[in-house]
Amino acid sequence: MTKDKKSFSLTIKILIGLVLGVVAGLLLQKSPDIATNYIKPLGTIFLNLIKLVIVPLVFSSLVVGVGEMEDVTRLGKIGIKTIAFFLVTTCFAIIIGLVLANVLNVSGGYILSSEEIVYEAKEAPSVIDTLVGIIPANPLKALVNGDMLQIIVFAIIFSIGLLVGGEKCKIVFTIFDGIAEAMYKIIGGIMKLAPIGVFGLMTPVIAVNGPDVLLPLLRVIFIVYLACILHVIIVYAPALKFLAKYDLKKFFKAAFTPWMVAFTTSSSSGTLPISLETATDELGVPKPIASFVLPLGATVNMDGTAIYQGVCAIFIAEVFGIDLSISQQLTIILTATLASIGTAGVPGAGMIMLAMVLQGVGLPVEGIALVAGVERILDMMRTSINVLGDITCSIVVSHSEDEL
Ligand code: ASP
Repeated sequence: MTKDKKSFSLTIKILIGLVLGVVAGLLLQKSPDIATNYIKPLGTIFLNLIKLVIVPLVFSSLVVGVGEMEDVTRLGKIGIKTIAFFLVTTCFAIIIGLVLANVLNVSGGYILSSEEIVYEAKEAPSVIDTLVGIIPANPLKALVNGDMLQIIVFAIIFSIGLLVGGEKCKIVFTIFDGIAEAMYKIIGGIMKLAPIGVFGLMTPVIAVNGPDVLLPLLRVIFIVYLACILHVIIVYAPALKFLAKYDLKKFFKAAFTPWMVAFTTSSSSGTLPISLETATDELGVPKPIASFVLPLGATVNMDGTAIYQGVCAIFIAEVFGIDLSISQQLTIILTATLASIGTAGVPGAGMIMLAMVLQGVGLPVEGIALVAGVERILDMMRTSINVLGDITCSIVVSHSEDEL
């Protein structure tokens, strides 16, 4: 079977897994315990298998990525382009979210009466803490704890040391190249299980979050999903077409698998192995650029999360009867950009960081309780946009370097 056919049939199988998951979830709504106790473990095993490769993969692929850039100036150039793309697209994302939430009246005129809101707000780190926390005082601890931002910083500093070290350090690059290669092979094996994993992840989500939980917040869900889709149409598609002269059909066909894995796992880091494979093998992104941009993006570039935080902030303000001024909305753009950078690429992280955005403009953090019921449904969509954004960036940067 050719490679194209092989990945096509895997995509179909994943899609079948997804549809069966939805059907099984709907059938099990009356007894969600069955879904949680017996079907969810299939998804958890799949997720654990993916997690197993993440830390060695991120570290080794970043070292290889930096190593293959060959000099620090080139690394700097690509680094600046990547970060600029991440920041600009994230700002667009929040603006789209804010505009839609305002224009479409996200709360639907619903104002909270005196009902009790019970939500134990988890403490979100402050902006300064987030910035200070990215330098790992103990890199081994960062690796053991799987703290991705710290791991990335350590990997970049370490590989710059190797680059500057020259000839003597070359062997270290070769070793990490071998480790990265082994990880890619393991991922290839894990992906064969994706259809079962997707089924196992989807069924409990639908069984637990049946229509009862969804209906009252349908407006929020609709606006977050619409904003995400618009972000793809208004930002990613033109960036690919005009900045990278890329064939959109080819892009969306290949990006379907990582999109689906992101949608079902709700984890950018968890999807990273698949995005790396898709970018290099199917979209033509050179390995050094993919190995640098994608792990970085999976950790700091979260356009979907930014959209979600913008929409939810407006929703919470509206239901508490608080009018947000333009300057407060500008503050949301700033804090949501920082919050999305600080959000880890794991399920639910964006909701915790939403607290930081709410605090930034003086909104009641307890408001998170209102959207917590549909958290997973929102997380699935925002994660897929987070991942699409990373892949788009890797293509745009590769084109700008004439390496696509
Ligand atoms: N789950 C998202 C991700 O992994 C982060 C978030 O919760 O917004 O990209």
